[in-house]
Amino acid sequence: MSDIAILGAGPAGLALARLLHLGGVECAVYERDADQHARTQGGSLDLGADSGLRAITACGLTEEFDRLARPQGQHTNYFDQHGQLLLATDAEDEGEARPEIDRLELRTMLLESLPAGTVRWNRDVVSVTQTGNRWRITFSDGQHVDADLVVGADGINSRTRPLVTDVPPAYTGVTLIAGEIAKPRLDSYAAELVGEGAGLAFAPDQAFLMQRNGDGSIQVYYAQRRAEDPRRAIGTVLHDPAFIRTELDRELADWSPRMRGVLDEVERHFVWWPLYVVPARQTWREHSGVTLIGDAAHIMPPYSGQGVNMALLDALELGRALAEHADTDAAIAAYEKSMLARMDPIATATTTYENLVLNPDGPKALLDLVRTGGR
Ligand SMILES: Cc1cc2nc3c(=O)[nH]c(=O)nc-3n(C[C@H](O)[C@H](O)[C@H](O)COP(=O)(O)OP(=O)(O)OC[C@H]3O[C@@H](n4cnc5c(N)ncnc54)[C@H](O)[C@@H]3O)c2cc1C
Repeated sequence: MSDIAILGAGPAGLALARLLHLGGVECAVYERDADQHARTQGGSLDLGADSGLRAITACGLTEEFDRLARPQGQHTNYFDQHGQLLLATDAEDEGEARPEIDRLELRTMLLESLPAGTVRWNRDVVSVTQTGNRWRITFSDGQHVDADLVVGADGINSRTRPLVTDVPPAYTGVTLIAGEIAKPRLDSYAAELVGEGAGLAFAPDQAFLMQRNGDGSIQVYYAQRRAEDPRRAIGTVLHDPAFIRTELDRELADWSPRMRGVLDEVERHFVWWPLYVVPARQTWREHSGVTLIGDAAHIMPPYSGQGVNMALLDALELGRALAEHADTDAAIAAYEKSMLARMDPIATATTTYENLVLNPDGPKALLDLVRTGGR
């Protein structure tokens, strides 16, 4: 096969590069980050046996993964906005064991499995255009490279996605305000709510989602329905904690002071995280020599913990299809047919779940679903 360019060194792009490498095919991965330490990669991700872990096994990284991963904190506590425990579930209530790994560890593990120089850092792609029967990838510094096959693994604001569809991700109407409690105090209320797993607290159309990371830190997300704020792009760091606290204190006026106090435990800053989604049923137009994997293909809200798992599974399926088909476009078609069909019910279920997490009647319907093993 000729020149393969993967855009984006997230889990999807790196896993595909690893799988190609194992099959004797080299590629280049172009990544916007200045280097692998350029930014924190957020909290932990849990991998499912039928999805993410299958890809890790195919990558030949099971041993490394087992060394870095830990059993997921399998219990989840559900509260109302006053801190009243509504339901507690544990490992036995979960359908499967899903080991979890810190996002940064996953990226580092995949990076270290690649030949040196595979990832080209500081390469911010601004456009992908056709030149003859090849693709020209242009970077923000004006330089370019050409490739025969372009795989867009460049996440939510993919520069590659417009080559296969005119349907961009749409705002779900929900924004997360994310923060981290790096070293919870001994008397931390957040730690009490979360235990070693997760703590979820609900009011009508509002939720606090808290999750323990492997290093003992706690990831906190406050979720609310709100209008899209054009001043704040995804990932905007809210540098004015006093302002954000004033705003949140007003919004959370009906929550108990102890619950509101969880926000005081957040160190450093909050991050603005509007959630986007693409339609569950996607039809892409005909295309040649280009495809999408991971969030670039099917961004969805993070509630059901499927994003990284589907991203890794995409890499696995595309890698296999490229190995099995001599014709690149036949491989792309086989991969996309399977991926788009797989994502339809998952994306639909995620939207349903969002409407249960953020519900005008509070968490009742969500708890009913959890009690009957639906989640
Ligand atoms: C708050 C939050 C919590 C989440 N929690 C979970 C969870 O618990 N479990 C789960 O399974 N999923 C979770 N997800 C989803 C998960 O993070 C994603 O689905 C997953 O990271 C997708 O991987 P990816 O490789 O497709 O994209 P990404 O991880 O987004 O990687 C894309 C890469 O492309 C690079 N890039 C972007 N644009 C360009 C450009 N123009 N030029 C060059 N490079 C570029 C980026 O820098 C990045 O490195 C969560 C998401 C959010 C927002």
